[in-house]
Amino acid sequence: MQILDGKLVAAKTREQLRKELEEINAIDKVGLAVILVGDDPASKVYVRNKINACAEVGIKSTLVALPGDTTEEELYAAIDKLNKDDSVHGIILQLPIPKHLDEYKFVNAIDESKDVDGNGYEQKGKLWVGKPEFIPCTPSGVMRILDFYNIPLEGKNAVVVGRSNLVGKPLAQLLMNRNCTVTICHSRTKDLDKVCASADVLCVAIGKAKFVTKNMVKDGAVVVDVGMDRDENGKLCGDVDFEDVKEKCSYITPVPGGVGPMTVTMLMDNTVKAYKNR
Ligand code: NAP
Repeated sequence: MQILDGKLVAAKTREQLRKELEEINAIDKVGLAVILVGDDPASKVYVRNKINACAEVGIKSTLVALPGDTTEEELYAAIDKLNKDDSVHGIILQLPIPKHLDEYKFVNAIDESKDVDGNGYEQKGKLWVGKPEFIPCTPSGVMRILDFYNIPLEGKNAVVVGRSNLVGKPLAQLLMNRNCTVTICHSRTKDLDKVCASADVLCVAIGKAKFVTKNMVKDGAVVVDVGMDRDENGKLCGDVDFEDVKEKCSYITPVPGGVGPMTVTMLMDNTVKAYKNR
């Protein structure tokens, strides 16, 4: 079994971005705006990671922190201002936003050319027709890892467990775009064990600690664990029981150190792309 080292791939990708940004920064600046509504502690941590990553690679970040009781009009106005600001090339709205605000309405208020999270309908549509521009960061990070390790995908049976708009669906689409035969599973899938055990490439994004065990993994399968969960001792772990399956698979992403480090890195990558596209 070989580890798919997301930390390594992220470091190499960031190094490349840093070099590219050094050249751009000599004459211009690449800007990313992060909108945070409310004071959800987890969101604050994610936002801080994004701001730190910007500083690391050389992107100018702007944090727009709005109170939890922000009205629709106020949030629209904040997004509109950033849409019109030429020094801002990428905009992300940190999710979740408070319940009185409709997430999709505001994700779609972001100008398509600045939607570096790839969450708006335009970007999702482009992905669906096989012409991706800004791919949602976690699934695009998965593909970057698979490509780094030259994992063959064409003609392989890929099973994606989880059908969220952020991870499962776009990942399935990306695998299909690369000529995998893709099965998408979810909480109502019958005989999940058998379906998973048929996968040459098994990707799991369900949010259930150590859910996938060796009876669900084909000999020699490539296993991608997107999950970020806590085990019975409160320790970070994935959706896959790493210790149980590790001898059965050919490659596996660990948690931590697998898909996680790629997500913010791909956001940086998308932001540079948005700058170049402008
Ligand atoms: P989500 O929106 O909650 O979606 C979970 C999906 O898993 C749903 O489609 C659900 O099916 C399916 N599911 C739940 N229990 C299942 C079961 N027992 N059997 C089969 N399918 C099941 O979650 P998400 O946002 O995609 O995130 C999934 C995991 O990835 C979480 O652990 C999250 O923390 C992690 N994550 C990590 C990163 C990263 O950077 N590494 C980024 C994003 C997410 P239904 O549709 O039928 O309900």
